[in-house]
Amino acid sequence: MSSIDTPLKVSIVAPCYNEEEVIEEFVRRALAAGRSAAEGSFELVLIDDGSRDATWSKIEAMSRQHPEIVGVRLMRNHGHELASTAGIASSRGARILLIDADLQDPPELLSDMMEMMDRGADVVYGQRGVRKGESWMKLTTAAVFYRLLRWLASVDIPSDTGDFRLMTRRVAELLLSMPERDRFLRGMISWIGGRQVPIVYERDERHAGTTKYSYSKLLRLALDAITGFSARPLRIASWAGVITAFIALGLLVYTFYSFEAGWAVTGWSSTMVAITVFSAVQLITLGILGEYVGRLVQQSKGRPLYMVDRVVRDGQDIQLLDCPEMRGARDPRSVTRDPFLP
Ligand code: UDP
Ligand code: MG
Repeated sequence: MSSIDTPLKVSIVAPCYNEEEVIEEFVRRALAAGRSAAEGSFELVLIDDGSRDATWSKIEAMSRQHPEIVGVRLMRNHGHELASTAGIASSRGARILLIDADLQDPPELLSDMMEMMDRGADVVYGQRGVRKGESWMKLTTAAVFYRLLRWLASVDIPSDTGDFRLMTRRVAELLLSMPERDRFLRGMISWIGGRQVPIVYERDERHAGTTKYSYSKLLRLALDAITGFSARPLRIASWAGVITAFIALGLLVYTFYSFEAGWAVTGWSSTMVAITVFSAVQLITLGILGEYVGRLVQQSKGRPLYMVDRVVRDGQDIQLLDCPEMRGARDPRSVTRDPFLP
């Protein structure tokens, strides 16, 4: 079936990684939200991102009770952004709600978001008013990151937003047509443009379990965001090179002058300072280059973005050959056009 002429009003898409403690409560609330906001014309797509706990068996069991559930299990842990991409690729609804499975984002907001979209929005994104249960450290790093990103990136990425958002099928297809591996979804969706409107909500504490985002995963996401949306760090690296070159020139003149003047030997401290400063600048510059080159290498391999292990739909295991769940795993370069254009 083509995903475009779907009868379903909305697909609720949630990536789940080791969420055995919350998944049942999430499904209960998400199903209730779908029933009331879309008069039952919806599906709940749960992506198991290679969990090592009982998440998948719970998804399988629940999908037998509730035909609205579509379960997709990835071969291994691919990370939040790719798991979300797999979920969007497997969805069939005319609209897609992307939501975390830990109940930090309330599924009940769906009806308000649907109404805002009825009034013509292409994307309704959740903007966090109050954030409960987040550490001081996380709030500060998040604030610094969003400011840095706003300054660096050439695209306006609204601050204090996560991936919690409702988008039209058109935006979802455009998103799927973007081939990059290092996906910073909220940035990519902003980049698409159209009418994007915020809805302010209170972000709750996790219902149960612990965060699946370590600081190293967050740093990786931050670097993906910066390298994916801005070449300015490369320019900063060049400028650092130019400025230090001028300083070096000054030092060179000074060295020759001291040599001529006969007070050359007592230069140990200035030599040490020059060496440490210049090597630091060089290493930083190389590091910035490395961040871009590394991503270029990965991208040039053209591997599938993720691999699907199993799918349950209508309470049954389905054959993977030629099923829509493999769409995101297709060669991304083959789908670079707007599917809605003739
Ligand atoms: N998640 C995932 N794969 C991962 C890490 C996280 O699918 O490798 C899911 C996780 O199950 C949750 C969502 O992404 O539904 C957000 O993760 P989490 O709540 O741990 O992040 P936080 O809210 O603490 O930033
Ligand atoms: Mg969370």
